[in-house]
Amino acid sequence: MVDKRKRKVDDECRRFQEEWSVKYFFIESADKALCVICHETVAVLKEYNLRRHYQSKHQGTYSRFEGNIREEKLAKLKQCINSQRSVFTKASKQNESRARASFKVAYILAKNGKPFTDGEIVKNCLLEVVDELCPEKSNVIKTITLGANTVARRIGDMGTNLMEQIASHAKNFVHFSLAIDESTDRCGTSQLLIFIRGVDANLNITQELASLNSMYNTTTGKDLMKEIQKTFEQYSLDWNRLKCLTIDGEEICVV
Ligand SMILES: [Zn+2]
Repeated sequence: MVDKRKRKVDDECRRFQEEWSVKYFFIESADKALCVICHETVAVLKEYNLRRHYQSKHQGTYSRFEGNIREEKLAKLKQCINSQRSVFTKASKQNESRARASFKVAYILAKNGKPFTDGEIVKNCLLEVVDELCPEKSNVIKTITLGANTVARRIGDMGTNLMEQIASHAKNFVHFSLAIDESTDRCGTSQLLIFIRGVDANLNITQELASLNSMYNTTTGKDLMKEIQKTFEQYSLDWNRLKCLTIDGEEICVV
């Protein structure tokens, strides 16, 4: 019985009490107490901690505010914090949109086999269009980064993310098959493409280009084997679950 009561008291102590606002100029923010005067946070919601903060830092200036004046002062400080917060939220939302726009443009460039340097051309086109149609937005467009380095980094990030997605699906493959295709790119370099298709216990199918490797010399059976082995290691694939291997459209092994 004593224990129960003790726990209840403890519990109450760790919850923000409304009266602390006017007493110590604190508000509750993300499970912590935030001082509206100096914006410091107190992690443990105990009256003692808040009182100590107020007495040591603000009592000298704020004790003279009493009654209605104290409440008005508190309301003003709260309003100040809220408007600052909305500025921050707006800024972070805008940053997120800018990054997303830059990723989308990089994706289109990659999908169409365009050089990374085309990002700047796209940006110039966007600026011209916006200048004509909605000039008030031109400052926003100017802040989108589409330089060659950024585009290259974005494409790299998307590739890594895709590989991580395949790897996480591959862990659950019950069976899978590989299709290997060799083709020559516009520079005359032989490219080896390895596609993977796998199925998990819930019959979800994943089909994706798992790897793309440039082959500079002759492509022998040994070279192919080396690349296949690399793909197995990259995605921690299990040889026992491989059901079919196709090379250039020819099925060479069905287990
Ligand atoms: Zn403070």
